[in-house]
Amino acid sequence: MGWVYAFSETEGLGKELLGGKGFALAEMTRLGFPVPPGFTLTTEACRAYLERGAFPEGLWDEVRAQVERLEAATGKRFGGGGEGLPLLVSVRSGAPVSMPGMMDTILNLGLTPDGVQALAEATGQPRFAWDSYRRLVQMYGEVVLGIEAEGFERLLDRAKVLAGAERDVDLSASDLERLVGEYRRLIEAAGRRFPDDPWQQLEGAVRAVFESWNNPRARTYRRLYEIPDDVGTAVNVQAMVFGNLGDDSGTGVGFSRNPATGEKGLYGEYLKNAQGEDVVAGVRTPQPLERLRESDPGLYDEIADVAARLEAHFRDMQDFEFTVERGRLYLLQTRAGKRTPEAAVRIAVEMAEEGAIAREEALLRVDANTLPSLLRARIDPERAPEAAAEGLPASPGAAVGHAVLDAETAESWAGRGLPVILVRPETTPEDISGMYIARGILTARGGMTSHAAVVARGMGVPAVVGVAALSLNLEERSFRLGERSFKEGDVISLDGTTGKVFAGEVALSEGGSGEYLHRLLEWAEPHRRLGVRANADTPADARRARELGAEGIGLVRTEHMFFDPERIPWVRALILAETEKEEREALERLFAFQRADFMGLLEAMDGLPVTVRLLDPPLHEFLPPLVELERKEAAGELAPGEAKVLAQVRQLHEVNPMLGFRGVRLLLVRPEILRMQVAALLSATRALREQGRDPRPELMIPLVSTPEEVEQALAVVREAFAEFDLELPVGTMIETPRAALVAGSIAPLVDFFSFGTNDLTQLTIGISRDDAGHFLPRYLDARTFAHDPTERLDEAAVGRLLEIAVREGRAARPDLKLGICGEHGGEARSVHFAHRVGLDYVSASPFRVLTARLAAAQAAL
Ligand code: PEP
Ligand code: MG
Repeated sequence: MGWVYAFSETEGLGKELLGGKGFALAEMTRLGFPVPPGFTLTTEACRAYLERGAFPEGLWDEVRAQVERLEAATGKRFGGGGEGLPLLVSVRSGAPVSMPGMMDTILNLGLTPDGVQALAEATGQPRFAWDSYRRLVQMYGEVVLGIEAEGFERLLDRAKVLAGAERDVDLSASDLERLVGEYRRLIEAAGRRFPDDPWQQLEGAVRAVFESWNNPRARTYRRLYEIPDDVGTAVNVQAMVFGNLGDDSGTGVGFSRNPATGEKGLYGEYLKNAQGEDVVAGVRTPQPLERLRESDPGLYDEIADVAARLEAHFRDMQDFEFTVERGRLYLLQTRAGKRTPEAAVRIAVEMAEEGAIAREEALLRVDANTLPSLLRARIDPERAPEAAAEGLPASPGAAVGHAVLDAETAESWAGRGLPVILVRPETTPEDISGMYIARGILTARGGMTSHAAVVARGMGVPAVVGVAALSLNLEERSFRLGERSFKEGDVISLDGTTGKVFAGEVALSEGGSGEYLHRLLEWAEPHRRLGVRANADTPADARRARELGAEGIGLVRTEHMFFDPERIPWVRALILAETEKEEREALERLFAFQRADFMGLLEAMDGLPVTVRLLDPPLHEFLPPLVELERKEAAGELAPGEAKVLAQVRQLHEVNPMLGFRGVRLLLVRPEILRMQVAALLSATRALREQGRDPRPELMIPLVSTPEEVEQALAVVREAFAEFDLELPVGTMIETPRAALVAGSIAPLVDFFSFGTNDLTQLTIGISRDDAGHFLPRYLDARTFAHDPTERLDEAAVGRLLEIAVREGRAARPDLKLGICGEHGGEARSVHFAHRVGLDYVSASPFRVLTARLAAAQAAL
């Protein structure tokens, strides 16, 4: 088979081979859109190259044949000097999955010193010819020869100063010619050489694109977006058209719908007399496309028409690049546009309502994991102080954090738990990891389609870009917003919905979910088979969860009710009690607190199940930390009574508390606590029933690993049932591997299993939930783990235990109810798994109820 295909001869070939860009170019060519001719080197050629470290045999014969066809089609000659125009090409990467900003592009390739003269003569524009050459040398120098961009930028800035020029376009042909000479010397000083031979240029460029598949930025992106490493990228070689031939030329980016809000209609940006990279790189700030409506209505209508037709063909919101060469429109690429979660929902819903896609398709188009971000905080415009500066609202949502001036600092501060806002002149793909971890992003340059904007929207991180009043001093680690100066570390706030930036901390208010989301989730409902509950410990959380569609509570962590400052003294009193009287008093107090809490929760979830888990954590969590007391003791500062506390803390101290005196073990050793909790729940239930309400509590025993533990705990529970003459469903958590493996003998004892996948993951893989941060990032980087197992259920092992427990549990007790209440219950892929293995429900934190609802429907589609 071939390694290379012309855009016009790709019938029947798919995205996997041609890459997303190559596939779209081929489609557009076939449909008769104005696409400059070109050809694609396939992903297979890339994989072959990366495997062997050399170009596969026959590849360059095919490339030469294609270049000849381009020459014939355009009437230009590759590397041509002398008569006529030289054929120049762009070389761009294009992986099967879009990876914006990750790979590299080279424009004007094929220009040589002779070609520059020919181009200058044939166009009558020496300035344009030298500018094209200057761009080629710079891009090639950066991308292929690995010279730092800053060196070129410095020379360019100096040339402008020397020429008294304010903008790049004010440099004359001879300024640019001189600049090219300086660029060449810069490259030579680094021990490299810019090739004058166009074929060497092409070979170097193709090699660079193939190799860029493995650069660290691309790897990071693939890891974040779960794209496999062994796909490879295609390379597209396309005849150049020029947006920098004067004011009737230009370049732009268009969207068939607004990528931030989802609103229908042409949206985008345009930069006159410029080449494409100027817009995407965010180096110059372009004009909204809307302005063309007045200045060039014919062109505007043509672009709007193209946008609509592209969308109708590809059946999704399109993001396309175009160039206007002397008034003629050319399309350079199109793809499904990146969009904010808000826009994704609105676009899916509206396209279904327009009849462009089916409702089921609309449901599948939204990444369920992004839905909680729709409830993202906002800055209330009524209550906001005066903004320190304003820029473009590139990615919605509000953020408050410490300003950090580079990605590395962002990562290190965020790693220490500080919320950070990444402040940069502009962002480049090197900033990806810092952007990901930041609460917000702020840049001085760039438009709505700059790297920062596109990536932030994709990640759902609020961003304000193109803030003209922002200037940075990276050496002094400071910046200014208009009149005010700031140091790195100062707190700032930003609102990516309005583009406003504020000094200090601004109060945030909760987001609302919006009509489109509401409609989408309504469409989802009839499809899902899994029930969706919430993990909630307070009536407020329970109400919130219910509003978001939760069908009950799958986990009440009762210990959370004890951490309240008013209550913790009573928990301590219970733990430290020396006499029966002291113990009774503490239990009575705690009973009253719990009863009131249960009443609130059951009321909020009236008519729906509420699964109350009995006390789970080790008791010492309620006591002052040992080190603190020992420090006081050493300093002779122990208060009266604290000596006793210290002794107790020492006695309860565990080297490995997560594997220690907790869960059912605690309940069996201190049954009075168990009895108190059950009594509080029964008493609350009875009181509500007497009020005519419909409370539906369930009891759940944590961290069991043997049927005997369950039996013994049940004995105490049953005594309480008898005392109240009231019975409730009782279940157990399955959160130790042993419990999963002996599920068949536990099941006959209980009404339900709830998989505590947080502990089950911790105990199965042997990684601490609390400390894994020390090595997990490295593991994920190196792909030692494909995913963070604390986030996405590890199907191979934890999943397997779950399946065993489901199978053997149901075999022993067919009507056994099964659910997940670990964090995984709110993660889309894990919800799909829960659906596949036939669980009855998942339970997630309140915001993630949205994710669970949509993911459950998607799993069933
Ligand atoms: C679990 O372990 O998955 C669970 C839900 O319990 P917790 O997170 O409270 O340990
Ligand atoms: Mg647990």
